[in-house]
Amino acid sequence: MKAPAKLRSLSGTWLTHQLAFSYDASTKTWFALAGVSFETPPGKYTLDLTGAPSMSNAPLAFSRQFAVARATYPKIKVELTVEKKFTEPTPEQLQQIEEAKKTKQDYLNRVTPEREWDGKFTAPADAPISDVFGSQRIFNGKAQSPHLGLDFRVPAGTPVTAMNDGTVLLARPLYYEGNFVVLDHGQGLLTLYLHLSEFRVKEGDVVKRGDVLGLSGGTGRATGPHLHVAVRWQGTYLDPARLIQLPLP
Ligand SMILES: [Zn+2]
Repeated sequence: MKAPAKLRSLSGTWLTHQLAFSYDASTKTWFALAGVSFETPPGKYTLDLTGAPSMSNAPLAFSRQFAVARATYPKIKVELTVEKKFTEPTPEQLQQIEEAKKTKQDYLNRVTPEREWDGKFTAPADAPISDVFGSQRIFNGKAQSPHLGLDFRVPAGTPVTAMNDGTVLLARPLYYEGNFVVLDHGQGLLTLYLHLSEFRVKEGDVVKRGDVLGLSGGTGRATGPHLHVAVRWQGTYLDPARLIQLPLP
């Protein structure tokens, strides 16, 4: 957005999330990345902004309105069959599920203040899409929560690449995710890569967009080899296809 005055910094509040804006001098525009969750009802929402003017010490408050439109998501009732350990876990397996859940709660809600992403987000594999964000799916006859990621139809062993610059937050096997890589792009934006057959990075590695993170596979709760990617922003899953389409400075 264009600010009403020359600013040194700009921050905002959007649907209770905090946004830190960066300045793009070539277009004289302030930018930040924010999203809307799957559950947000359609309507008008306000982005509250506070700027620090270059010429004054008094903060400058202003706001912008954004309309959240209704979206339709496919309800393809495909019968998927997965191993019983995923639909009817034993007490021992429930313990492993609980541990994996704790790991995710611990890592996936972290917000590092510095922006690491830079420019456009790119697809993690050069392959057709096999399932979109928001679709309704059924495992062994039981309806599951909506599909909050994007699936690529890739055979096992296909290189999976970083969608943008970031730091490897997780690179370990988890119960449902299988071999799981999570990149932290800063400011609460994470990209998640599931069901890998092999890791090519370790936790703490710094990666650039396009770097190989691992090889695709069918580990964890998967009906066969494919790549599931997800985008998480400050605790909310966003549509990866939308992020890839976004023009970013
Ligand atoms: Zn998926």
